[in-house]
Amino acid sequence: MTRVALIAHDEEKPELIDLATEYCDTLAEFELLATGTSGKRLIEETDLAVERRASGPMGGDMQIGSEVAEGRIDAIVFLRDPLRAQPHEPDITALLRICDVHDTPLATTRSSAEYVLDGLADEP
Ligand code: PGA
Repeated sequence: MTRVALIAHDEEKPELIDLATEYCDTLAEFELLATGTSGKRLIEETDLAVERRASGPMGGDMQIGSEVAEGRIDAIVFLRDPLRAQPHEPDITALLRICDVHDTPLATTRSSAEYVLDGLADEP
């Protein structure tokens, strides 16, 4: 089954919820995982089933990165806040790198996320 990770920085969490609501039917076909707080909000504010990992600052990005390294993740939506430095920036950079290594699609904006989700939905 297609497995997708969903992550958003605090300023971008409303956008992630909005995206998940709009793409609810598509996402419901996938196995979903998310960093801690993003996952909590997705569970509370949508009808989607989401496996939660640690919150980003506590290592959630690295947990998701380890699954990318194991080839267990098909795509990541990571809505990043481009205006504020994050305390766990090194972990975020590591996640981006491991996605590049494994050619795992990673969308960092709303519109790129829509393309990735539409692409996954069209896969046979
Ligand atoms: P969070 O982590 O969903 O636990 O807030 C996201 C992040 O900042 O990487």
